[in-house]
Amino acid sequence: MKSIGVIGAGQMGAGIAQVSAQAGYHVLLSDVSRERAEAGKAGIAKQLDRAVTKEKITAEARDAALALIEPVESVADMAPAFLVIEAATEREQIKRAIFGEFGKVLSDTAILASNTSSIPITRLAQAAPDPAQFMGVHFFNPVPVMGLVELIRGLATSDATVDAVEAYVGTLGKQVVRANDAPGFIVNRVLMPMLNEACFALGEGVASVRDIDLGCQLGLNHPMGPLTLADFIGLDTCLEITRVLFEGTGDPKFRPAPLLVKYVEAGWYGRKTGRGFYDYSGAEPVPTR
Ligand code: NAD
Repeated sequence: MKSIGVIGAGQMGAGIAQVSAQAGYHVLLSDVSRERAEAGKAGIAKQLDRAVTKEKITAEARDAALALIEPVESVADMAPAFLVIEAATEREQIKRAIFGEFGKVLSDTAILASNTSSIPITRLAQAAPDPAQFMGVHFFNPVPVMGLVELIRGLATSDATVDAVEAYVGTLGKQVVRANDAPGFIVNRVLMPMLNEACFALGEGVASVRDIDLGCQLGLNHPMGPLTLADFIGLDTCLEITRVLFEGTGDPKFRPAPLLVKYVEAGWYGRKTGRGFYDYSGAEPVPTR
């Protein structure tokens, strides 16, 4: 059985571990401590229980997937993995430190991939044991639901590395798009300016939260409006990625909307803090402007 390593057992790492185990991989899951990795596995168990209740999977499939997820203490336990996916906190120093550890542990053929949303892959590759065997693999949230993975090659990434990771993603039943190492890759490059523009429109008094969202949802045939989506992603994350686009391209068209900056300064990050463009304290989200 093939083993993969997943570093970081938060929202994304847990999702990647879950879909990999469901596809039959043995998953070595780590975080800052074994307790955190165990907590990540407990969260996956809850997700799988819910899927059983909704009759999307059988109880046997849940048990089989859970049995394949092994919380481990540290990077040293990842030696058997043919592929290690890093999904730790979006801070370059943290990711670099993790990659530095791998040179001592992984086999010569193992591939290291980062789920970063915004840090340049070519720059991160400098901290990896072999930049040819390093690339970006950008899953979408929530991982078990979303059908897309962006593959990002750094300048030094080899074709064999991209092909191997594409083959792995294919076994998860997800579609792949290939991007070069440019700020925001494909999806965030297109999405974030739209969310940012919705923040400009709200800040300039073009329309209310409700009308911007309903207008875009029905007028563009999107599943939800841009302000709802921004609250879901997290306004702090939206601002971070918009800044990466702005700084990475130097193009003023990507400058963050002042209202987005203000909300983040106020700690109004969206759903995760109970308030963003909507107030989430009641049974239903209520527009705040
Ligand atoms: P999260 O905060 O839910 O999880 C991050 C996890 O990393 C935490 O459990 C934390 O304890 C752990 N961690 C921190 N330092 C570590 C270390 N040194 N070793 C091992 N684990 C460590 O964050 P997330 O939303 O899961 O994001 C993880 C990565 O995925 C980031 O790079 C982010 O940009 C990217 N990403 C996020 C989304 C999203 O919508 N949330 C989408 C695509 C990509």
